[in-house]
Amino acid sequence: MDTDDRTRRHNAAMEKQKARVDASIEAADTERGVLVLLTGNGKGKSSSAFGMVMRALGYGQRVGVIQFIKGVQLSGEELYLQQHCPQVDFHQMGTGFTWDTQDRSGDIAAAQATWALAEPMLADPAYDLVVLDELTYMLGYDYLDATRVLDAIANRPPAQSVVVTGRGGGRELRELADTVSEVKDVRHAFASGIKARRGVDY
Ligand code: ATP
Ligand code: MG
Repeated sequence: MDTDDRTRRHNAAMEKQKARVDASIEAADTERGVLVLLTGNGKGKSSSAFGMVMRALGYGQRVGVIQFIKGVQLSGEELYLQQHCPQVDFHQMGTGFTWDTQDRSGDIAAAQATWALAEPMLADPAYDLVVLDELTYMLGYDYLDATRVLDAIANRPPAQSVVVTGRGGGRELRELADTVSEVKDVRHAFASGIKARRGVDY
């Protein structure tokens, strides 16, 4: 195939693709907030959620972030939001949380206290975007009542979008979500003995 031929075929393919994209843009005529579920075993769920936080902030939108796991160390996103984005309502589960199942009642209390901060956001039309980072684990461990959580998400103000991250989360959450992305673990540096890095992993 000569260069001209190649160019002609490329242009024809691009034209077809543009027609398809234009048609689907035309067909998408509903304007409302969405529930995005970012799940799977690979790296990229929370960092994607914080990418959306940045997008929303770019448009001056009101953002709430609730993290349902107390990290062993501060995360870069937490440091940045606290120092530079006082307009973002950022909450992290308190120190009451541990992975120690012997303190199940303490874990449940911490999860519920954190949920008590999330629930009013999901009822407040002032919030354009609410991130519920690592929420799926609270449902998986039955630390939170799934019906209550799903009802709050389902009944949120129509223009509000919600992002839920974490592995699992259950069939109902998956069905409720408008967008579901599963990050696949192809390879992670940690498996080669590389330490978690600032700015990349936390
Ligand atoms: P990130 O916050 O980097 O987007 P994530 O939210 O998808 O990651 P989590 O399960 O919340 O993943 O875990 C957060 C931490 O665990 C990060 O430091 C991340 O690099 C690491 N991690 C994520 N997936 C894997 C994996 N498959 N193997 C090892 N470590 C992982
Ligand atoms: Mg995460």
